[in-house]
Amino acid sequence: MKKYDFDLFVIGAGSGGVRAARIAAGHGASVGICEESRVGGTCVIRGCVPKKLLVYASHFAEDFEDARGFGWDVGTPRFSWPDLIGAKDREINRLNQIYLGLLSDAGVRLYQERGECVDSHHIRVGDQTISAEYILIATGGRPWLPEIPGIEHAISSNEAFDLEELPSRVAIVGGGFIACEFAGIFSGLGSSVTQIYRGDAVLRGFDHDVRRVVTAEMIKKGIDLRLEMQVESIRQTGNGLELSLQGGEALEVDQVLYATGRVPNVRGLGLRDAGLEVRADGRVVVDELSQSSVEHIYAVGDVTSRVNLTPVAIYEGHAFADSVFGGQLRPVNHEFGPSAVFSQPPVGSVGYSEEDAVNHIGVIDVYLSEFRPMKHTLSGRDETAMMKLIVDHESQKVVGLHIVGTDAPEIVQGFAVAVKSGLTKQQFDTTIGIHPTAAEELVTMRNPARSHGRD
Ligand code: NDP
Repeated sequence: MKKYDFDLFVIGAGSGGVRAARIAAGHGASVGICEESRVGGTCVIRGCVPKKLLVYASHFAEDFEDARGFGWDVGTPRFSWPDLIGAKDREINRLNQIYLGLLSDAGVRLYQERGECVDSHHIRVGDQTISAEYILIATGGRPWLPEIPGIEHAISSNEAFDLEELPSRVAIVGGGFIACEFAGIFSGLGSSVTQIYRGDAVLRGFDHDVRRVVTAEMIKKGIDLRLEMQVESIRQTGNGLELSLQGGEALEVDQVLYATGRVPNVRGLGLRDAGLEVRADGRVVVDELSQSSVEHIYAVGDVTSRVNLTPVAIYEGHAFADSVFGGQLRPVNHEFGPSAVFSQPPVGSVGYSEEDAVNHIGVIDVYLSEFRPMKHTLSGRDETAMMKLIVDHESQKVVGLHIVGTDAPEIVQGFAVAVKSGLTKQQFDTTIGIHPTAAEELVTMRNPARSHGRD
């Protein structure tokens, strides 16, 4: 008789947990998984996927305008928020079914209930106690909102996907991924958007030219971006919500969306009871094999707060399952992972920012190109695209590549292979460009805009 109910029990059926469960089952393990919300997790249900659908929807506003420059008469387009949300919901339901099918096809037993650790081999799931040889914590993250007076009137991105109507005036607080993406979505769909950010340019952590260009382009698109500004309190009025801003100004809106970061989802999970090392901010401490301080408990994805991106969680989950059940040790290397922000215009980025390259490498060359995309010669739109390469002067390796502009995430996905593989500037230069494209800039930049560390 088996000592445990399962070889592996996974808490959390999001991107990382589902991948780990399926792969472990494929390696012959008996696997159980529990989920308190809907299978698919943040990315599929209330994150990347619905967000991208809303970004597509919002971009049509500009597409209709731009079409005029190409001879089209599109009349006056009309938009229906309920139709969009209905279509989005149908797609999310379809994906949720696919995820359920993936688990059952792999022979993974699903418990649609919350799970909590009782001790290091036992999990309470609903009213049952289940034992497992290995436990994987894959509970993701949740929005974090600062405790200011009236914060209960604010929504997070979780609720933004299911609003009954499109707010005509919306305030968005924050300058990171989610704030910039939702500012573009609401603005494109016709809301009047005020974005309130405490820093001097959005997207802290990204290359400074990326930040400069995105900040300028968002303002050009009509977003009222209040920089170096904080919200002090929120109160309900007869007409909506009134925000008191630093300096005394009052701002009235219909919705306030806070996108001020996310924290690991560990509340009430009993992780410390199971003996795990958990930091004050909630992150589960793991090594490069995703192993926690308890030998047979692992954690992947946002709950470990390493690089909080879906493909990273999937990669970590897969590597965990191969390492523990597939007989193949696969430590995870997070270096040179690409990322994108689906702001408008979008950002794609891989490798060091100029500032990080100066700090880590010292002697670097920076190649920079800013231009008006060809499409806008006829559309008349005043939009700037930016492409940038950071090159290690000594080895000539391209150590950073950043794009702001149409299709930036698609372009960077391809170039990320080159950067991850350590290709040199000369290898970029000997690659033939594709004409006419924007991305050909990346193989035709001849002279550095500036260099650092060569006195
Ligand atoms: P981010 O960490 O990207 O941004 C948080 C923002 O909130 C920052 O601008 C930060 O300012 C600001 N902020 C933090 N605390 C306060 C405060 N007390 N008062 C006012 N402002 C504050 O978090 P998001 O919520 O946007 O996204 C969470 C994570 O989700 C991202 O880090 C990313 O990992 C992931 N994500 C990825 C996406 C993608 O891949 N496209 C899309 C969406 C999310 P400051 O910069 O000054 O610290």
